Amino acid sequence: MKTLQIGDGPLVASRLAFGCWRIADRSVAPETGRRAILAAIESGCTLFDHADIYCDGEAEKLFGRVLRESPDLRARLVIATKCGIRKTGDPDAAAPYRYDLSAEYITRSCDNSLKRLGIDTIDIYQLHRPDFLMDPAEVAQAFSTLRQAGKVREFGVSNFKPSQVIALQSACPMRLQVHQVEISMANLSALEDGTLDQCLAERLTPMAWSPLAGGLLGDGPRRLLASQQAYRPAGVIGAIDSFAAAQGTSRTVVALAWLLRHPSHIIPIIGSTDPDRIREAAKADNLEISREDWYRLLDAARDKRLA
Ligand code: NAP
Repeated sequence: MKTLQIGDGPLVASRLAFGCWRIADRSVAPETGRRAILAAIESGCTLFDHADIYCDGEAEKLFGRVLRESPDLRARLVIATKCGIRKTGDPDAAAPYRYDLSAEYITRSCDNSLKRLGIDTIDIYQLHRPDFLMDPAEVAQAFSTLRQAGKVREFGVSNFKPSQVIALQSACPMRLQVHQVEISMANLSALEDGTLDQCLAERLTPMAWSPLAGGLLGDGPRRLLASQQAYRPAGVIGAIDSFAAAQGTSRTVVALAWLLRHPSHIIPIIGSTDPDRIREAAKADNLEISREDWYRLLDAARDKRLA
């Protein structure tokens, strides 16, 4: 798989990442997650995305076990994780679902992720969601502490508005390197709301979560977030299928290659736990889409014709 520089920093990673959200889900068999990680590595993925809350910490633990079994793997991979969402009941039964980007929580969550992953340094540490009570100076201090301690190499954000990225970046001594947002042919918001423009201007690498809209644009099972239930991708699926047939490829490859075509160098995060679907997704790297075909597909994905 091709590789690219992350942001304007020293990290280099695969053109598509693998997402570990579901690898230790109670609904999947215990060996499924391990097989998915290995299939992603064999397919050329070197960037792995985690969060402290994925499978309540079990996803990071499973990944840590895979790393322990093959000690040479660590040096070949770029490991990203996130913090900032605290679920109902954390730390006690009365605590509500909330966001927490206090310095104390960021540094504690980082230590816990390092322990679960069994590594010394996280390559990319991302803030999962913007905290309405975020103080950029406090976050910057936490980032500096983590970097000076050798616990984190590079930093990023997720689901921030462009104005929130500016507020945080202006307080940080280091450059933010990634912005992880939902982007797919069923959700074009990042293309239209300034997020990708900012990524281009600031050399932030966009990482696309739910690049198949939770399976709506796939040809297997669907695992939709509440927000994705309202997507109506019927028209775009027809257009993707016609183009895929003409190119002799699959719907998955077209939906991911369409994201890869954007000049901001979007990294789609593969979310499947099925080795065959992971291998198929990784082929997106080989499909070139012309400007004309990209616009034909965009037209099908939009509610309104371009003016
Ligand atoms: P996705 O690729 O849009 O959806 C994957 C889901 O679709 C899986 O349940 C998969 O089922 C199903 N699927 C159906 N057909 C498929 C096909 N042909 N190929 C691949 N999958 C197919 O991605 P996602 O899982 O929603 O998100 C990907 C990653 O983004 C996550 O793992 C996580 O790392 C990250 N993420 C980040 C945020 C954030 O807020 N920052 C939010 C959500 C996700 P099978 O497993 O059975 O194949």
